[in-house]
Amino acid sequence: PYQHGEVYVTDDGAETDLDLGHYERYTGVSSRQSDNITTGRIYRDIIAKERRGDYLGATVQVIPHVTNAIKEFAVSDVDDCDFVICEIGGTVGDIESLPFIEAIRQLRNDLGRDQTVSVHTTLVPWIAAAGELKTKPTQQSVRELSSLGVQPEVLLCRSDRPLPEAEREKIALFCNVRKSAVIPALDARNIYDVPLQYHEAGLDDEVLYAFGIKDAPEPDLTRWREIMDAIDHYDSEVTIGVVGKYVGLPDAYKSLREALVHGGIANRTKVNIQWIDAELFEHPESDIVAELEPLNAILVPGGFGERGSEGKIASVTFAREREIPFFGICLGMQMACIEGARNTAGIAEASTTEFGPTSEPVVGLITEWMSEEGIQERAADGDLGGTMRLGAYKAKLDGNSVIRGIYGSDEISERHRHRYEVNSHYKDALEKGGLVFSGMSPDGRLPEIVERPDHPWFIGVQFHPELKSRPFDPHPLFAGFIEAALKQSRLV
Ligand code: GLN
Repeated sequence: PYQHGEVYVTDDGAETDLDLGHYERYTGVSSRQSDNITTGRIYRDIIAKERRGDYLGATVQVIPHVTNAIKEFAVSDVDDCDFVICEIGGTVGDIESLPFIEAIRQLRNDLGRDQTVSVHTTLVPWIAAAGELKTKPTQQSVRELSSLGVQPEVLLCRSDRPLPEAEREKIALFCNVRKSAVIPALDARNIYDVPLQYHEAGLDDEVLYAFGIKDAPEPDLTRWREIMDAIDHYDSEVTIGVVGKYVGLPDAYKSLREALVHGGIANRTKVNIQWIDAELFEHPESDIVAELEPLNAILVPGGFGERGSEGKIASVTFAREREIPFFGICLGMQMACIEGARNTAGIAEASTTEFGPTSEPVVGLITEWMSEEGIQERAADGDLGGTMRLGAYKAKLDGNSVIRGIYGSDEISERHRHRYEVNSHYKDALEKGGLVFSGMSPDGRLPEIVERPDHPWFIGVQFHPELKSRPFDPHPLFAGFIEAALKQSRLV
């Protein structure tokens, strides 16, 4: 998490870069396994082909073998799309991205010039000492990209202040693009303002022009205007405490932060997030009451490993006893179950096998489960990478449960990414303690949702609902959680 930020998971179980989450949030289109490629996967496939004998002993090279594999990836599984956006990450000139840029160069030739448009993002830094915006980095990077054979048609110039006409002209002249295609990409006050801002700056017109599309209808930006209106003109404010481990790097919880904002949009409420390091509560001198009392709701997010877990459990206890809205996600749900086992079901030794051997595995490793494709099996001592329960799984919800009311449906599908599961052998004991298993996997074996019906709002989910929340379609669990926080804020 500290190096890459969050791992974004698709419905079909791909573990991808967090940028894909932004594409989903902006376009509303669910991404797929076939939407994300890495150098590692390209090489793995090529080596597998070579071993199989597909190249019949011929020399395997970056051009054409690696570039062909990239091109095949770019145009595969897109029959249902009108437009395909290919993003090459990194910076022009990176050694790692060279084969990708070369593949795009070839693809533009293969498909025809009116079928592809190159949009290049550049930097226009403000040099405070000189008091001016510098266009040189943009010129350099376009020159570098052009020398690789890709002449961009549109430039998105990142800068922290408006780009004067003279600078736009200069960039157009030196970079060989229309002046109107030099789009100022100013730092936005809110990321959901970006589509409106780019529209104002003329990005959509330039892309249409580059494609030679003349009869496009006016874009309908109503929903983005509504989102910005709810963000700018909120009626109330709440403060949510997120008690986690990777709180030093906000990108580690990217989708979670966005989903909380979406929950705020649904309630016309500004959501302030207080990131709290769970380890804080493990020191004897820590004052958990002082930290958590000012909050309107507490969320324990997903995570891995033992560090900070006792602090997370302590914050569950606080939320349960003080009747503060509580939301546990993945590891957060597992912590809520261990807390319930220890403090409301009399199982003092309750723990998870993730943290080491335990006599009371309330959470444990499962080695087989059912997926849509059939039974999945894992060895307990197998690889750690790529062995998790990943992607969308269905859950059945109890008729009278709070969760059933929130979703308004008996069956849901949500994305997973975890190795351990709440142990259904403890169901009766935990339910006697007030923690009800209100959602199960369709075969009835895996607990998916727990809740406390005698608490104002206490829900734990084994999946990651934040991955499916969108600004114009806030996830019901986040809308419900913020609504509960709002009620709580009115009590104090
Ligand atoms: N570490 C836990 C598991 O593997 C929870 C994972 C998570 O929160 N994503 O089951």
